[in-house]
Amino acid sequence: MAILEEPIKEVSLIKNFIGGEWLESKGEIRDVVNPATGKTIAKVPISTKDEIDAAVKAAQEAFPDWRRTTPLARARCLFRLKELLEENFEEVSRIQTQEHGKTIDESRGETRRGIENVEVACGIPTLMQGYFSEDIASGIDEWLIPTPLGVFGIISPFNFPFMIPLWSAPYAVATGNCVVIKPSSEVPNSQTRLAELADEAGFPPGVWNVVHGGRTVVNGMLDHPGIVGIAFVGSTPTARDVIYPRCGATGKRVIAQGGAKNFMVIMPDANVRATVLALMTSFFGNTGQRCLSGANLVIVGEDGFYNSFMDAVVDTASRIIIGSGLDEAVQMGPVRDKEKKERILGYIESGIKDGAKLRLDGRRNIKITGDYPPTCFLGPTILEDVSPDSKVGSEEIFGPVMSVMRAKNLDEAIEMANANSFGNAHAIFTSSGKNAREFQYSVTSGNVGINVGIVAPMAFFPFSGMKESFYGILHTQGQEAVRFFTESKVVIQRWL
Ligand code: NAD
Repeated sequence: MAILEEPIKEVSLIKNFIGGEWLESKGEIRDVVNPATGKTIAKVPISTKDEIDAAVKAAQEAFPDWRRTTPLARARCLFRLKELLEENFEEVSRIQTQEHGKTIDESRGETRRGIENVEVACGIPTLMQGYFSEDIASGIDEWLIPTPLGVFGIISPFNFPFMIPLWSAPYAVATGNCVVIKPSSEVPNSQTRLAELADEAGFPPGVWNVVHGGRTVVNGMLDHPGIVGIAFVGSTPTARDVIYPRCGATGKRVIAQGGAKNFMVIMPDANVRATVLALMTSFFGNTGQRCLSGANLVIVGEDGFYNSFMDAVVDTASRIIIGSGLDEAVQMGPVRDKEKKERILGYIESGIKDGAKLRLDGRRNIKITGDYPPTCFLGPTILEDVSPDSKVGSEEIFGPVMSVMRAKNLDEAIEMANANSFGNAHAIFTSSGKNAREFQYSVTSGNVGINVGIVAPMAFFPFSGMKESFYGILHTQGQEAVRFFTESKVVIQRWL
């Protein structure tokens, strides 16, 4: 199979997109490195407080006219954006692979999921309809109008550079708000391309802004009185300790989606072949850097079932093809950078120290397809006899590591999952409707899979989460996003 051409061919300095103009930042400049090749592909600015202030000002200035633009006319910009994304689908996908490392198929899936949110937001004329009651008293009517609020900040993590801002931005602008997006500075290229396409789609200057950088930009958003709300996706420490409390303190509405530690529970009545395949993409897809990835595999059943199931898992995992994501034959790319690899290696060491048995070692002697430096590559790693209370069994690793544990029965498996502090996306594999119902009823996670290893809600469902995986009330995507980005205005009229 072919090795695809890299879409970014020259190293250029990424600019901020503020008020419809591409502006060079005065901030410090950092390299953006392709983790597969080790080559610098772009320079990204760590923008200053003045630059985030300028973006908020541009968005505030654009808001009065944009909110008076009819929902149908706003939707037309989104329809054009969808068309442009379809036309540039392959380029946008390859940019994600080049900056992040994920396989091209994973990037194509990410692009598709992003576009689906644009498609859903195109329905805004009906999605943001209010409601009306005639005669609440004699000759008096009452109605509700969802109204936009102003300028929203959108802050995203490194693992889905293109899609995650699209869980929020299409709904924010469709409802009549303006946005300032702060992508992860590790992967700034796909949001730059998206902003170019949003500009071409005809959003007026100031409606869609992008400011690159790190904490200074985030703090600038959190402190800015002109920002009415924040849609954040990232790790739990940032969501829980920075975003959520600071939004509370400054009176901003907030969505703060955090990290995960997902339990995949295998019942002895599961379809083994289909389950093993689903587990491969769940644990090792996106190189384990997915908030929906399987982390802990809990097997219920006797030794005979456990042994044959684990033999099939280890055999399949050991055959995963590792290499550059632009090689179409490759099934697992590198992790995003050397520091993340070191962190994952630290977890594997700690698991071994705590008594886990290393069944498949992805740390060394892995076969990398093609001529790439090993710096960011890891193979699938499987640890058995992991205690759910140990560091490796309880904390988010965010890498291609499967921690295996056993449970006597379904109740014990559910107890193990519920004892964990995260609650993002647990799943059960079973052919019993009774087991499936009990699991989905009792498990404390916002997304639940039944014979599905990656519980990714479609764009017309909320992207949920419980416990330390989510702080807020309304979620990104679909109807809940429309509600998040609007306030209910209630009107009562006596007809004189
Ligand atoms: P992160 O929390 O380090 O960074 C997320 C964003 O916050 C980035 O834009 C970053 O610049 C900014 N940031 C980081 N620390 C900050 C601080 N102290 N103050 C202000 N801003 C700060 O997350 P990450 O490493 O980029 O992404 C991986 C994490 O995201 C994982 O924990 C993963 O589970 C989570 N995630 C969650 C979901 C979900 O839907 N729940 C989806 C994708 C990723």
